[in-house]
Amino acid sequence: MTKREIADVLKEIATLLELKGENPFKIRAYSNGARALESLEEDLDVLIGESRLSDVPGLGKALVEKIETLHETGSLEFYDNLKESIDDGLVSMLEIPGLGAKKIKTLHDSLEISSIEELQQACEEGKIAELKGFGKKSEDKIAEGIRNREAYGKRHLWWEAREVAQPILDGLLALPQVEMASHAGSFRRKREHVGDLDFIVGSTDPGPIMDWFVAQDQIKETTAKGDTKASVRFDSGLQADLRVVPPKQFYFALHHFTGSKDHNVEMRQRALERGLSLSEWGLKPVEAESFEEGISAQSESDIFEALDLSFVPPELREGRGEIDVAENGLIPNLVEIENIKGVFHNHTTASDGRATLAEMTAAAQDYGWEYWGVADHSKASFQANGLDEGRLEAQIESVKALNESREFSTFVFSGVECDILPDGSLDLDQDLLMRLDYVVSSVHSSFSQPVDEMTARLIKAIEHPATTMLGHLTGRLLLKRDGYEVDARKVIDAAIANDVIIELNANPYRLDMDWRLWKSAADKGLLTSINPDAHAPEHFAFLEAGINVARKGWLTVENVINTLPLVGVKEALARKRSHLSE
Ligand SMILES: [Zn+2]
Ligand SMILES: [Zn+2]
Repeated sequence: MTKREIADVLKEIATLLELKGENPFKIRAYSNGARALESLEEDLDVLIGESRLSDVPGLGKALVEKIETLHETGSLEFYDNLKESIDDGLVSMLEIPGLGAKKIKTLHDSLEISSIEELQQACEEGKIAELKGFGKKSEDKIAEGIRNREAYGKRHLWWEAREVAQPILDGLLALPQVEMASHAGSFRRKREHVGDLDFIVGSTDPGPIMDWFVAQDQIKETTAKGDTKASVRFDSGLQADLRVVPPKQFYFALHHFTGSKDHNVEMRQRALERGLSLSEWGLKPVEAESFEEGISAQSESDIFEALDLSFVPPELREGRGEIDVAENGLIPNLVEIENIKGVFHNHTTASDGRATLAEMTAAAQDYGWEYWGVADHSKASFQANGLDEGRLEAQIESVKALNESREFSTFVFSGVECDILPDGSLDLDQDLLMRLDYVVSSVHSSFSQPVDEMTARLIKAIEHPATTMLGHLTGRLLLKRDGYEVDARKVIDAAIANDVIIELNANPYRLDMDWRLWKSAADKGLLTSINPDAHAPEHFAFLEAGINVARKGWLTVENVINTLPLVGVKEALARKRSHLSE
């Protein structure tokens, strides 16, 4: 196991021990151990090889033994037994926002609650409001969390659905009977979350394809299987539908099963205006008896062309004006992942990240990026170990030293993710903030402010001279928690007026600001930065989810600041700093 995998196990042990109500010192030993491991500058292999792990501050003898076992064997009996000894119901309660291990333990001890169902009932009976340390507000929040969990339970993040979708598509494409294959539906349109997966295959021999589809590993049940259509459900609850069509129908079916309802209605209407009938089977003159007499398509572009339209990328097929734009041939060249030259807003072990400055820089270099920007939390985010002025100054020096050492070809920008306090002021000293290359200002507290107050709070932060970009506009966590209420139009206008960027937070759970708001905002002149908000090197991959949203929001290279090369980005950041100190 790697050091981060081991740190994960230690953190889980701490949570499980807390659920059991173990000694707080013991619990803290595991969470501190996890942190110590993550902050290690030295290689774990070397430390273990030279028996120097016990020299690391924060790692006691018992912990060292467990880490060594996990490192060597990938498992730990103590951990397995611990998991075995705890009710699954208690563990599942951790999924309810606002419920940590400590609170779950209290609920279990005082009300004998050991499942989400029992928790719901206790909420309905008002028992939680009466409990010491909870109150009516907590009860409402828990009840809402349970409701959300049910409503959201049937949907799946695009990011997670892809884990299932990609192997299916690869498997289909590898079958000799398959002439062409693609995913379709909302997944192909890159919606932030999807209800199910759709696959379209072109083939003259569907039998073996259907057999393969329903025999895949990890299928929980086959819900339908016909000659050309099948549906299966995976362990995660995600359903996948397959349609096999004759190759000459393939692009018509692909278009039909990709577009949103509104897009398809407009396309059919447009066909009718030309005396044509468009469907999943083909495109033919209205009066023709069969699609045999219709138009042939070697690609989806042929279908758009037959209706006097330029090609509309799948991401834009939402029925939000794309047909009118395509009629005039004005569909823009949407931003692509290859256009990105570097990424801002990322965390290190200085706050709640899981890798050091040097490790993150090495990972950014592996991506071939010209630059990346660190932005650890500020002191008000104490639960995330946010930096005060002193620690931030020390980090500025470390970044400077790292850049000067030329150890990496990737340049590091100094920054911070500064908390926007409830009154709209920023959490750190202005002179220090102005010394940074950039500042991401974000809300992490007092989410329940009324919409006017929250809007004024964000605008005040935008007007602060040090703010370069606004972090995650609404604070939402998709399928987990709604964002705080804010008047997005007013915030967008204020950002444009103050030369402030609004980030597109690419964390697959955030994708904030929402794709539906980008087109009109960018038309008015808003710039964005697609930010992974990485808390570990592997989170740099989130960039792809951000690109999906940028494309759904009609954004081009011109709208995205981190498509600029290093020189251009340095100029843009410096310009913001200098014209304010004039
Ligand atoms: Zn944040
Ligand atoms: Zn962040």
